[in-house]
Amino acid sequence: MYKRIYKAIQKYNTIVIARHIGVDPDAMASQIGLRDAILATFPHKKVYAVGTGGAKFSYLGSLDSYEEIDEKTLLIVLDTPDKRRVDCPNVDHFSYKIKIDHHPFVEKFCDLEWIQDKSSSTCELIIDFIYHTHLKKKANQAVMEKLFLGLVSDTNRFMFSNSSYHTFEIVSKVLKDYPLHITELYEKLYLRPLNEVRLQGYMGQNMKVTENGVGYIKISEEVLNSFQADVASSGNMINNFNYIEEVLVWVAITEDTKNELFKINIRSRGPIINTIAEKYNGGGHQLASGAKVMTMDEVDALIDDLDHACSKYIESMDRGGK
Ligand code: AMP
Repeated sequence: MYKRIYKAIQKYNTIVIARHIGVDPDAMASQIGLRDAILATFPHKKVYAVGTGGAKFSYLGSLDSYEEIDEKTLLIVLDTPDKRRVDCPNVDHFSYKIKIDHHPFVEKFCDLEWIQDKSSSTCELIIDFIYHTHLKKKANQAVMEKLFLGLVSDTNRFMFSNSSYHTFEIVSKVLKDYPLHITELYEKLYLRPLNEVRLQGYMGQNMKVTENGVGYIKISEEVLNSFQADVASSGNMINNFNYIEEVLVWVAITEDTKNELFKINIRSRGPIINTIAEKYNGGGHQLASGAKVMTMDEVDALIDDLDHACSKYIESMDRGGK
């Protein structure tokens, strides 16, 4: 697979690297890391990392706008299992398409698809790819810093079960080959304004918990405004609510008046949630998912479904299951 992807990169002089809408550090770091690794080896190629960025992630570098695609452009889609969530117009107009992803399979929409759903992150896959190809020769510290940040973010500092033996192995290789300043990098990833910490306090104070352990918090636009926060802020904090004794699954429901919907972030420390998120215009990983719904009735139905999943999970644990 490494060879086939590398051959396509060699072949095309114009390459567009896209990822999913609703940018996050793994998605953005993987596209910038791959773009810069390709450019270091092939400085004459035109390589564009595209999509709507977020000011929050500017420490990862800048994204590109690109001109009209011609028929000889390669599209590489990262971290995105389905076509509807690719943050790039006219996906079907590219002459050749490659997908590199670590989400559970949803649909095939590229000519070549490399899916490793046990991988911690798309950044882990890109590091693997670089190490297995000629890109390694010219890959530099800046590239590895970005990829390290994306991997650390998607594993929540190696805390999630997606951190495997291989994750640690590849990270130790990177640390051996490149002198990364870990504390400085962590500061980039985790430094946040006081208003977000205050919003997090509000979320903790106002979290409700269902009978079977779904912790949920509804955040209106008014509340967001009172903390001078935006729709992305609550989602960025969802990982900070892990390890609450009474809570197995936790959900942030944020009103997004601009898009006339509710944005949902869900995390779990046991029950499988992505199949439930899929019912509500969402998806993601087994223990980390997102969704979008239009009405509070749908929000309540989602919470009921999650509560039911928690109840079944508790029953299976009581029976000695895993
Ligand atoms: P988030 O809560 O936004 O950090 O997303 C957690 C995971 O769910 C990521 O893998 C996202 O790509 C995925 N995800 C988030 N929102 C959606 C959605 N509306 N549809 C499908 N997958 C989503």
